[in-house]
Amino acid sequence: MSTNGKNENGGSRRTEKLAVARTAAAAGSAAESAPPALGPLSDDLPASRKVFLVDGDIRVPAREIALGGGEPPLRVYDTTGPQGHDVRTGLPKLRQPWVDRRAARGDRNVSQMHYARNGEITEEMRFVAVRENVSPQFVCDEIARGRAIIPANVRHTELEPMIIGRNFLVKINANIGNSAVTSSIGEEVEKLQWATRWGADTIMDLSTGPNIHETREWIVRNAAVPVGTVPIYQCLEKVKGRAEDINIDLFIETLIEQAEQGVDYFTIHAGVLLRYIPLTARRVTGIVSRGGSIMAKWCLAHHEENFLYTDFERICEVMKKYDVSFSLGDGLRPGCTADANDEAQFAELATLGELTQVAWKHDVQVMIEGPGHVPLHLIKENMERQLAVCHEAPFYTLGPLVTDIAPGYDHITSGIGAAMIGWLGTAMLCYVTPKEHLGLPDRDDVKTGVITYKIAAHAADLAKGHPGARDRDDALSRARFEFRWQDQFNLALDPATARAFHDQTLPADAAKQAHFCSMCGPAFCSMKITQEVRDYAAAHGMTDRQALETKMAAKADEFRARGAHIYEPVPDGERLGE
Ligand code: SF4
Repeated sequence: MSTNGKNENGGSRRTEKLAVARTAAAAGSAAESAPPALGPLSDDLPASRKVFLVDGDIRVPAREIALGGGEPPLRVYDTTGPQGHDVRTGLPKLRQPWVDRRAARGDRNVSQMHYARNGEITEEMRFVAVRENVSPQFVCDEIARGRAIIPANVRHTELEPMIIGRNFLVKINANIGNSAVTSSIGEEVEKLQWATRWGADTIMDLSTGPNIHETREWIVRNAAVPVGTVPIYQCLEKVKGRAEDINIDLFIETLIEQAEQGVDYFTIHAGVLLRYIPLTARRVTGIVSRGGSIMAKWCLAHHEENFLYTDFERICEVMKKYDVSFSLGDGLRPGCTADANDEAQFAELATLGELTQVAWKHDVQVMIEGPGHVPLHLIKENMERQLAVCHEAPFYTLGPLVTDIAPGYDHITSGIGAAMIGWLGTAMLCYVTPKEHLGLPDRDDVKTGVITYKIAAHAADLAKGHPGARDRDDALSRARFEFRWQDQFNLALDPATARAFHDQTLPADAAKQAHFCSMCGPAFCSMKITQEVRDYAAAHGMTDRQALETKMAAKADEFRARGAHIYEPVPDGERLGE
């Protein structure tokens, strides 16, 4: 394996801006509201360059952060995708030769699980093995037993493959998508680029408004990460909002339409069974999943079992033809902490486990969606039950939010739960933005949500002892201790914010060399004092401990010499406020 450095931060801000504007124009109504386009990666990730890890014909992107102080550059996982391309033509079709070769053989079931179970290591498996620094055989084994998935529709050839499973790095998903009341196609493509710039591993297009097909097309063609959808939303558009008019034929037609476009995973609420709906009647917030409530309404209107459940094998036939992965939806997830871990939630989870085995019979890849709103002390039970009843299929949770009292801060209430459930074994965390429960997130909210969830996922990787997970922490800590401010900013998840906070009080260039910041000031900077202790020890041939004891003894002498008063009288004129 070798590294071949190539900077892909090409493409001027103006060119991209025009391209997005044209995209919007092509889509008609979206033209006027096209926002300013993103600048090159270097605008947001300074001192970074894209490099490629090469394994034969496989070239896997990574980001290399240049460091000072004699430190080697640090390489980090990269989700940003190819840069500088015209959004009208989309990204390069990296997987086309791989997919074509298999199509030429006449393969009918093209799922990664099918190949894995037949002992064939695909290019996608080799790609993720390089990304995760594990062997391709390990990837193949995990996929074969259903403990990990590579969402990779054969029609999404722009994809840079990634893996979701609890023995790999914890991943995060960002939701984007327009609604009937706000947002344009141009904005949605930009949200995709923006979310992946900050580290989103997959995105879900949850569009519910107009131009739903076109929006998805632009998103998939410009996505180097897997794209997920909730197809029942489009079905509802097709029947003009009358849930009871949806049927399995319309659903299958919609699945095929989206699978043809290249959607990599579908959220399907097949576990919302008729008999489970009464179990939600006494809940504080009832059914809060959009898909779950649509299916509940359908079941009650017809007084029949959910057709997604009864016709599940028809759905599997579509999934394996394109290799679309199931994200079995938790339509009965709790919508508040009071409803957490109730009978309805766990009844549905057991059904999702049953359906997992049906999907696996077809070699279709599966992950399981999870809650929702769960207080800290009830999180562990969620993970344990999911592993037990869903046969170790990867868990994909929304948060969970650990309290309900902080609208406006639900990226934090959920980030806490996400870190914990990630540590316990959840493979992918669906982000929550500060706008959760309040409105459609804008660009700033997307960034805040992604950064919050990168923190949660990384905290889980550290706690799980994932090999190499601490490298970035260690590099940043060394930079911090050595007052290499630029390195500290550049290693941060959000360099611009770290720099701006520092510069709010100490904007001068000279302050970037200073051995303190404005938090404790020069006299009380504990890291500076520690360094002085170390220098003193080195100069006097002592250990750090001996030097500390010597310094402490000197301070004690000084204290006694001044009369050993705990409280010193304050001279007139120096009292607070005078
Ligand atoms: S002044 Fe305080 S916060 Fe700032 S670098 Fe020193 S120890 Fe850290």
